[in-house]
Order: sequence, then C-alpha cells, then structure tokens
Amino acid sequence: MAQAQRKSNLVSIEITGLNHDGEGVGRIDGLAVFVPGTIPGDQARVRVVETKRSYARAQVAEITKLSADRVKPPCAVAEPCGGCSLQAMAYEQQLTWKTRAVQDAITRIGGLKDVVVKPCLAAKHPVHYRNKVQFPVAMQGGVPVAGCYARGSHQVVPTEDCLIQHETNNRIVLESLRLIKELDLTVYDERRGGGLVRHIMGRVAPGTGEAMAVIVTSIKRFTRGGEFASGLMQAVPRLVGVLQNINPERTNIILGPVTRVITGRGYIDDLFGNKRMGMLRFRISPLSFYQVNAEQAAELYAQSLEYADLTPAATAVDIYSGIGTITLFLARRCHQAFGIEEVAPAVADAKQNARLNGLDNVRFITGRAERVLPRFTQEAGIRPEVVVLDPPRKGCEESVLAAVVRMRPVRVVYVSCYPATLARDLAILQRSGYRALETQPVDMFPHTSHVESSTLLVRE
Ligand code: SAH
Repeated sequence: MAQAQRKSNLVSIEITGLNHDGEGVGRIDGLAVFVPGTIPGDQARVRVVETKRSYARAQVAEITKLSADRVKPPCAVAEPCGGCSLQAMAYEQQLTWKTRAVQDAITRIGGLKDVVVKPCLAAKHPVHYRNKVQFPVAMQGGVPVAGCYARGSHQVVPTEDCLIQHETNNRIVLESLRLIKELDLTVYDERRGGGLVRHIMGRVAPGTGEAMAVIVTSIKRFTRGGEFASGLMQAVPRLVGVLQNINPERTNIILGPVTRVITGRGYIDDLFGNKRMGMLRFRISPLSFYQVNAEQAAELYAQSLEYADLTPAATAVDIYSGIGTITLFLARRCHQAFGIEEVAPAVADAKQNARLNGLDNVRFITGRAERVLPRFTQEAGIRPEVVVLDPPRKGCEESVLAAVVRMRPVRVVYVSCYPATLARDLAILQRSGYRALETQPVDMFPHTSHVESSTLLVRE
C-alpha cells in the first residue's frame, strides 16, 4: 500500500463492483475490499477493519466523489437500516447490476460460456411490495419501537413507514406499538432475557387483501392478549386474525414452536398468479414459506412454466415445493405432478391447496429431497418429462442433482435465489448431460441485493 495513502490509516479506493450482499467492492494492491455504503462509481477514503486471505473489509470515512448512478435514497432510514443495501442506486442501475451478477456467476463460478442471460425483469411496483413483515421490538428512550436491525448489529432502527413493506404491514406494526404502549406490555430484552413482546409479524395476501398479525412473546401467559387482539382488529380493518407465537428461547430465531389463535382465524387466503399463467387460490398459515413479492413471483413462475413447456400427457416433478405454488400450476398443465418438500406443515398446506383448487392429479411427498427423491422415483417408476428445482440459498445437494439426472427428464427448470449456488449446480448438471440454454433474472426484491432467476436446461 502506498505510503501516502496510508496516512492516518485512511486509504483511497475506487468502487468498481458490488458483492453478493450489495456492498461496494474496490481493490487495494490487487486485494478485493468490501465497503458497505458505497456503490460502483464512488471514490472514497476508507479504513480497513479486517483483512482475510482473499478479501478485506473497510469502513467509509468519506466519499470523495459520488457515483453518477447515485440517487437520494427514497427511505428516511435507508442508511442506518440493514434492510435495503441498494437504495442509493438508481433503479435502472440496480437491474443492470442484478443481470450482471447472474451473468458473472454463470461464467466465472460455473465456467459456462453459452448461457443466454436475459436482462433482469423490472418490478412494476418497486416499493411497498413485501407481503410479510417480521420486526423485532425494543425499548428506546422509554418507548417501544420496531424496525430492522442496523447493518451488522442488534440495534433496532425505528421504522414507521418501511418503503418496501405493504401498507397493511406498516399499519400492523404501528398499531401494535400503540397498543403495547396503551396496555403497558413489557418488551423483551435480548441481553437480560426479561420482558414479554419479542417480534411483530404481519402477513398480507395481496390478491385478496386478507391480513394476519402474529405477536411473538417470550412466555405463554399474555393476560391482556384479548384486548391487544381486539384493539388490533379494530384498528386494521383488513385483519382476519391475530395470533400469538411463543418463543421462550434465547435465540436469533424469530418464531417458536407453538402458535395459537387469539381472535379470528389462523390463516389467510390469497389469489396468486397473473394473466400469463392464470390464477390459483392458496391458503397460507403463519409459518409456511410464501414468496414475499407475489406480483414478481408470478412473473418468475410464469416464465418457469413457459420453460417447462408441458404437454397434457406429461409428468412433472417439483422439488422444494413449499405450499405447492409451482406444483399446482404444473399440475394444471400436465397429466400428473409431484411435489417434494421437507417441512410437514407446508406439505399439509400444499395438499389443502390442491383440494381448494379442485386438482386431483397431484401428490406431495414429505421429506428431504436428497433422501426421498432417489427411492421414490425408483419405486414409483416415475419418468418425468420436466423437473423443477427451487432450492434455498445453499442450492441442491449433489445427490439430488444425481437423482434428477437418473430420471432423465427432457427439461429441467432451475429457479434460484442465489446466483453463486445456481452457477455451481448448472455446471454439475452440464457435466451430466444437461445444457443450460437461458436464464431470466426477475427482480423480486427491489432496493435489496437479492437476485432471483429461472433457468432452462435441456437434455443433450
Ligand atoms: N417452490 C416453493 C418454495 C420454495 S422455497 C414456492 O415457490 O413457494 C424452498 C423450499 O424448500 C422451502 O419450502 C423449504 O422448506 C424447502 N426445503 C429446503 N431444503 C429442503 C430439502 N433438503 N428437501 C426438501 N425440501 C427442502
């Protein structure tokens, strides 16, 4: 490092890219340095706070030249809040970066040169799109507050009007805080362990407008729970139920194992889909996975269905099927569909959703894909034309990919929320005789660094 640059430990750096977490990346003496709070095109003076073998981390002391792509973050708490890391970037640039993140992963990590990566599909509604909120509650200056944790800490950033949350969720949070004050409820203290209210969770079904609230408490006893629930139902007209979840553990995990309905019902119903793929009805219980941006998820799944290109005689297998969102749309277009999912309550929701939509050509199997898949497909002699994969961030176990290859589907559609593991898995499939043709990134999480995509592979 040049002597002059080292003065008072501050180093000048030019930011040329973003890492997977949406932090600016520059280079000092060839070493990649991650600088949160910067974007490509910025020049800054930074203090290196951590050095590892392949990268370093630094804090901004001063941005000496602002990138031409910078905009004023639309949210008042964008900077302290750890929720949205790309708010200082113009939306068009966010999309460009997301396309590039997928392209780079596929070529550099996957070593695949011929995959067509389409431009990331923009969100029609880049604000107030999240249908689920889960904010920790804390006491600050004698009043209860709620919001995301500040970047890299457990300090709640009070957020009255979260830019990316559905308005009903913001309302649920605000009214809950008011009731916590009015009813004199105590607030959980992470360090000492005392206090009642830990988190406020809100979920909205954007297609029907139904909403539910879950108040997470540290103990079962919630003497004023009835008053809290009826007060909240009155204040937020779209609520169909208020629930209590009990989490007594000293843990970062938000929800505990027990949930009970205080008033109303314990689920919401949504109408999910769009013109491109049609609509289906889904029942969502408080703990089931459901895509947080339904409008963009519908775009992603519509694209995935087009890639699947099913015929009425075909069989399809959907692995990592959750509450059956993709499986049921597949079932509507083919002879029979199978869903494989490890979380039993999600499978119960999925079966219920099949009934709700009058679909009887679909079967759900509970279990880990790596265990269930090899046995099930062999025993049942299933020969699917199409396999859909929608794994969590860590991607697919190799044994799952091997089992997919053994089933010899004509097409594989890989829905991914993390480009690095997508690229790794595409390379494995490519070595096994499947060629990745095209990837469509879809912006499901505007202003955050998350990148979602769907990829079509064909058997060679
Ligand atoms: N396709 C669904 C869910 C995708 S999220 C939808 O669009 O709604 C990924 C799902 O994979 C979650 O429901 C999670 O519970 C499940 N899952 C994670 N690891 C798994 C594994 N090893 N085997 C089976 N399911 C798994």
